[in-house]
Amino acid sequence: MSRCQGYAAREARGALAPFLFDRRDPGPTDVAIEILYCGICHTDIHKVTNEWGHTNFPIVPGHEVIGRVSAVGSEVRRFAKGDLAGVGCIVDSCRVCPACLDGEQQFCEKGVIYADNCPDRHLGGFTRGGYSRHTVVDEAYVLKVSPKVDLAGTAPLLCAGITTYSPLRRFRVGPGQKVGIVGLGGLGHMALKFARSFGAHVTLFTGSPGKKEDAFRLGADEVIVSSDANAMSSQWSSFDLIVDAVSAPHDVNLYLTMLKRGGNMVLLGVPPEVSMHPHSLIRGRRSLSGSLIGGIPETQEMLDYCAEHGITADVEVIPIQQVNEAYERTLKADVKYRFVIDMASLGG
Ligand SMILES: [Zn+2]
Ligand SMILES: [Zn+2]
Repeated sequence: MSRCQGYAAREARGALAPFLFDRRDPGPTDVAIEILYCGICHTDIHKVTNEWGHTNFPIVPGHEVIGRVSAVGSEVRRFAKGDLAGVGCIVDSCRVCPACLDGEQQFCEKGVIYADNCPDRHLGGFTRGGYSRHTVVDEAYVLKVSPKVDLAGTAPLLCAGITTYSPLRRFRVGPGQKVGIVGLGGLGHMALKFARSFGAHVTLFTGSPGKKEDAFRLGADEVIVSSDANAMSSQWSSFDLIVDAVSAPHDVNLYLTMLKRGGNMVLLGVPPEVSMHPHSLIRGRRSLSGSLIGGIPETQEMLDYCAEHGITADVEVIPIQQVNEAYERTLKADVKYRFVIDMASLGG
C-alpha cells in the first residue's frame, strides 16, 4: 500500500478538502498512474451532494483521468513506465457476463466498479477517484492516450466524450443526416463536435440565446432557442436523430415530434422524470432510448478517433484549490464547457 494525497468531501454537501488515503500496490496486471489532469463531471457533484442517496463518505471523486504510467505489474503488456494513460468511469467489472464479453462493461450484470464510490475488492472500503496524485488500475481498464494530443482537453473525453460518441456511432450518424443536440453544456458541446465531425447537418437547441454564437463556433449548422415557438415548430418531423443532453426538467414530446418517420431520440441526461405522450412515438414510429457512457473498447476507439481528428473538449484548467468554486460555477452552467483540474497544483 502507499499513501495518496487527494481531495475528498467528508459529508453530504461538505466542501472538498485535502485528504490522505491508501492506494494498493500494483499487482501483476495493474498499471500505476501519476495523475496529470482530472475533469470535473456533473456526476461528481451529484455524488458529493449525495443527491442519489448512495454516496459513501469520505468520497474522492473523479473519473476523467489523464496521467503518466509510473509502474507496471509483471504481466502488463500494453503499457510501460512513461506512457500516457487514461482512466474513465469504469475501473473493473466481472469480465465474464454477456455485457463484459461484448465489451460493454458499463452494463456488467454483476455490477460495474466505477472509479469512485464502489466497493474496493483489493483494500476494502470504496474506490477513490481521480482528484488525487496517483491511481492503480487493472491494465484491462486503462486507455491508451496519444502523445500528440492536448492532455487537459482530452481528460473530459473519458466521460463526456464517450457518453456522446457512443450513441452517435450506434445510430450510424453520417453525411446526409440531420442531427439535433439538445443543450449546450459539457455533454452537448461534445455531441456537437462529434456529429459535425461525422458529417451530419447539426442543429443545436438551447434555452440560452447567449449561447448561439458559441454553438456556431463549435460547428452547429443551425441554432434554435427553445423558447422561440415558431422556430421550434418549423423543425417538425425533420430529424434522423436527436441527442438530449439536458438534466433539467423539460418536455421531451416537443423534440420527439421533430423526429422523422422512424427517427430516434436518445436521452443522456437524467431529469427527475420524463413524461411522454404515447402519440409522440406512435405517430411516425419513433423511438426513445437511453445511453450510458461506453465500454472500454469503444472508449479506446473514441480516444483514437479524437487524436486523429484533433478533437478535444473546451476546458477551463484550474488548480485543485479552486474545486469548490468550480462546483458552484458548474451548477450555474458558468463554464465553457468543462473544468479540468491540473493535478500539479497538489504540490510536492
Ligand atoms: Zn462523468
Ligand atoms: Zn460483467
